Formats: sequence, structure tokens, C-alpha cells
Amino acid sequence: MTEKYILKCPDCGRRIPDRYTNVCPEGCTGLIRAYYQKTHLQIQNYLGVFRFSDWLPIEGNLPSDAGPVTYKSETFAKELGLSNLYISFSGYWPERGAHIESCSFKELEALPTTVRMREKGNGILQISSAGNTGRAFCQVSALTGAPVVVVVPESSVDRLWTTAPTKNVCLITVEGDYTDSIEFGNTVCTIPDIVAEGGARNVARRDGMGTVMLDGAITAGRLPDSYFQAVGSGTGGIAAWEAAMRLIGDGRFGAILPRLHLAQNEPFAPMTNAWKDGRREIIPDKDMPDASRTVNQVYSNVLTNRHPPYSVRGGVYDALSATGGTMDSITNAQAAEAEQHFVDAEDIDIDPAASVCVASLIKAVEADAVGKDDCILLNITGGGYKRVAEDKNQYPVEPSFRVKGGAPIDEIRRDIESWANTHARRNYA
Ligand SMILES: *Cc1c(COP(=O)(O)O)cnc(C)c1O
Ligand SMILES: [Zn+2]
Repeated sequence: MTEKYILKCPDCGRRIPDRYTNVCPEGCTGLIRAYYQKTHLQIQNYLGVFRFSDWLPIEGNLPSDAGPVTYKSETFAKELGLSNLYISFSGYWPERGAHIESCSFKELEALPTTVRMREKGNGILQISSAGNTGRAFCQVSALTGAPVVVVVPESSVDRLWTTAPTKNVCLITVEGDYTDSIEFGNTVCTIPDIVAEGGARNVARRDGMGTVMLDGAITAGRLPDSYFQAVGSGTGGIAAWEAAMRLIGDGRFGAILPRLHLAQNEPFAPMTNAWKDGRREIIPDKDMPDASRTVNQVYSNVLTNRHPPYSVRGGVYDALSATGGTMDSITNAQAAEAEQHFVDAEDIDIDPAASVCVASLIKAVEADAVGKDDCILLNITGGGYKRVAEDKNQYPVEPSFRVKGGAPIDEIRRDIESWANTHARRNYA
């Protein structure tokens, strides 16, 4: 092959050239995956996520120093009695070289996804998000001028801010819950040239998030024995598994896949329930009863995805099976306590989802589910919100349109089309 990468369907095996393709043209349901020509990872001379561009589905890059930063923990590791604990931090913490100003690992996907759309799609990205993903894409839009349409529930609009002014964000707020805003987002994508970002199906999203595993293995000099992450969709877990397979193919980092330790937040833990019951299928009545209530009772609501890519080929179930992985669920009290412990030890504020992850590590240590000398990679998926507020201006993103849940798009279709035509299309760097 002469291309830098090719996409391949895990169901039918078809090789697919990338046209911002997120699903197999044969109609298969599995997650298509990127295969890179280079099996030997060469770190490029950039500060941020683009230093891993050998294994990102893009040709160019962006001037950004936002990337994952991994370091060997001293204080927290000592308190847990661990000799090889590596913390990968995706957020804002300049003292450690961490410059993700939107403060979560969603920016690791927003950066390559924006480049991939420019190179292979030539459309306008649409994102439905209750928080961190939307903010990450607004931040990248502020940086690059790339147009984005972001659809959020009205109640989460105050989570959307950037550290530079935005000119090319079309923010639509939906009166209703997250599901209403996803549905409205889907109808927005019926407008020509507006293209859904794709979620877990987007290879740039997964390979962007997978850079945490790359950075962890490079910092530790080997693949970790265990990888800890809190999950809502599980995309980060799938990404870690895929990145680890590439690292095994590289040959310098060992030959054993890290065991995935994924955690959800009680009382909403559908993947944990299905996995513990030995099932590839999530049964809603059994695994997430009363979901509309329980999603509002968790410490971290970025972990409350109701349709995670768990059962599909190449999804969370396969990632757990391949790595000998486990799933745990964490109570709000355990998360809050773990957060305090971590913040005191490492001296940086963290996202509630990361606190869930820290709690799952503490539980695993107490249960002897990991060895004291194991090489452990702890994915702190977000943090530095307090730290970034000290250093940067924060600009709220103002809604362009407000709609009611379930409303037809007809009333504002022309307005969005004209926004797309005159305001933003194809006129960015
Ligand atoms: C989205 C998110 C997660 C969960 O990520 P998935 O792998 O997509 O389930 C965890 N932590 C933070 C901070 C997030 O924003
Ligand atoms: Zn296929």
C-alpha cells in the first residue's frame, strides 16, 4: 500500500479508502479501523498530540501544544504502595507540560478529527455533546477557525467556553435532555455539507484518544500491565486496546496487551452489569433500569452514555475479552473520597470522571487485583479546570439558535443553511 493508512472493516474485511468514512459501505456494524503503513512509531518534533501523527489518520497537523502528558507518580504511588504507577494527565497543568486548555482528553480527538474533516471530508462537523466533547471542538474551532455545529441540552450551555474567542461555532441549544439534543443534531445533519462527527465510529477520535496509551508506553519504556479508565461510551478503552496492538506490532514495547480496568459510576453502569453477567448484549431493563432517573444521580455525568459501542465487533466487549479486562462500578462517595486523596497527593484538580477512575484503582489495589510492582497506567482523562481559570480568559460560547426538544428543523433550516454558506464554509486555515 502506498497510502499512509487504509481503513478496514472488521466484519467483511473490506479495505476502504478514507473519505471521512465512519461506517463500512457494505452496511456492516463493526467499528472500522485504521491500519498504518508505518509499524515503527517515530515521534515527530511537536509538543502536542501531533507528535504521534504517524498513527493518526491525517496528513497534516495544527499548531497546538495540547497533548497527553505522562509522568511517574511519587506521592500518590507511595500512598498506595505502588512502585510503578504512571499517571497520564489530559488537561491543563503547565507545570507538568500539560496544555489542554479545554481540560479533557476529548481535545485529543477534536484536533485530529478537525484535520481529518478538512483533508478527507470537506464538510462542517456536527457534534452533539452534553459537555466535554462540545467544549473541545469549540476550543479547536477557536484555534483554527474550523466551522462546527454544536448541539447541546440547554441545561449544559454553561459548560461551553473557550480560552480564545470563537467566530465559527454555530451553537444550538435544545430544551430537553441529552437524547433530545442528539435527535435534533441528527436532523441538522440532513443539511447538505453538515457531517456528523461519528463518535466511537470515527477513527480519528479513537486514534486521538489512543495517544494516551502511546505516551504512557513511551514514558514507561514498555506497555503497562494494566490500564485504568472511567468510561461512558468506552471509546477511550477501545482506543487504548487498539493503540496497544500497534505498539506490540512496533516490537519495542513488549508483546502482552495491557489488561483494561474500566469503571462506571453507580447507579448508572450498564456495561459493568452486562460484562459481569458475561453478556455481549446490554439488556436495558436489566442493566440500566430507570435510566432517565439514574443518569441524574451520578457524580460524573460524562459517564452516562445510554448507547455505548459495547456489543459491536471491535467494541468494548471485544476489547475487554482480548485483554483479560475487568469492569467495576464506583459509588459517588468512593469517587469523592478518591478525588480528595488524589488532589492532596498530586496537587492538581481533576474531572469527576477521573475521580471515578482513581477510585477504581484504589479498589483494585485493596482487592489485590493488581500487583504492587505492576506497571500501571492511570488515565486522568480530565483536569486543571481551576488551574486554567487562573491563567486564561474564559469566553462563554453564545447560542445561535434555541429550539424545543422534538421540534422540527424546518423553522431554522434556512437559517442554518445560510450560516453554513456565508459564515463558515471552507474559509479557514
Ligand atoms: C468522555 C470522558 C470520559 C469517558 O470516555 P469514553 O472512553 O468515551 O467513555 C472520561 N473522562 C472524561 C473527562 C471524559 O470527558
Ligand atoms: Zn464491512
